[in-house]
Amino acid sequence: MTASIIDGKAFAASVRDDVAARVGQLKKSTGITPGLAVVLVGEDPASQVYVRSKGKQTVEVGMNSYEHKLGADISEADLLALIESLNDDPAVHGILVQLPLPKHLNEDLVINAINPAKDVDGFHLSNVGLLGTGQDSMVPCTPLGCLMMLREHHGSLSGLEAVVVGRSNIVGKPMAQLLLGDSCTVTIAHSRTKNLADVVRRADIVVAAVGRPEMIKGDWIKPGATVIDVGINRVAAPEKGEGKTRLVGDVDFASAAKVAGAITPVPGGVGPMTIACLLSNTLTACCRANPETSAA
Ligand code: NDP
Repeated sequence: MTASIIDGKAFAASVRDDVAARVGQLKKSTGITPGLAVVLVGEDPASQVYVRSKGKQTVEVGMNSYEHKLGADISEADLLALIESLNDDPAVHGILVQLPLPKHLNEDLVINAINPAKDVDGFHLSNVGLLGTGQDSMVPCTPLGCLMMLREHHGSLSGLEAVVVGRSNIVGKPMAQLLLGDSCTVTIAHSRTKNLADVVRRADIVVAAVGRPEMIKGDWIKPGATVIDVGINRVAAPEKGEGKTRLVGDVDFASAAKVAGAITPVPGGVGPMTIACLLSNTLTACCRANPETSAA
């Protein structure tokens, strides 16, 4: 069997088109433009690339993008003061603090200082609690993108066996909550899980969010299963020339694609969906802040 490829890039483009159309309608009918503020602390090269890409796509769908680039030595008090001013700014509907933060800053404190209604990453304790209890919340962008692709591929997920490998607060745990919400039977695996290959082999749906290049092999995959690869790992690619690198996921794509029914590639799978969901969350936050816009 050769798996069908779940094209996250194309799906993300359709989500962005939909967001752009709704933003256009919103502006026309109410004069309100959704605004996303992104806060970047320090000079981490990967974070800089993500922030640039988020800002560019925000503008492309017709929203306002406000970038706040702060020195790595900013004090916690000054960062919290910035967040408070963004919380109070009516032109800002979504606030995203790019993680990781430098060590001297308490990430939990900073994230929980964001107004939960503007927490478009869905990491604030209130949103975590709402998601965990099945209530309307801001849903973290990466797991939301994964869920959208799974729903598009399967229709109903009810009753399917899902194994999420990874239990981080930003991917693994919210992913498991979302799958549970769609009535999957969910197992969360992690670094202490025994017989991981056997656990993964049970799954109709595998979500890999581990951060270990190509760890999940084809012979761990149940024939016909759907594989969502969240991992983004940069590895050496001597075949492309000295010092060159390439991106790979947490799944060994070549062997898994021979067994799975469907699989996301890396790059071009989960990554593009993450930013598309961020834009969608920002529009949602804007509409909730302005209930008269509910038609948008
Ligand atoms: P974390 O490092 O926070 O979590 C990794 C998880 O994997 C942990 O729960 C850890 O278990 C588990 N793990 C580590 N090693 C093993 C192992 N050998 N066997 C089983 N489980 C293991 O990572 P994130 O959740 O933040 O990210 C995961 C991956 O997803 C990374 O590659 C990251 O770059 C990528 N990512 C991609 C995004 C996208 O937009 N596509 C967005 C966010 C992340 P334990 O808890 O026991 O330590």
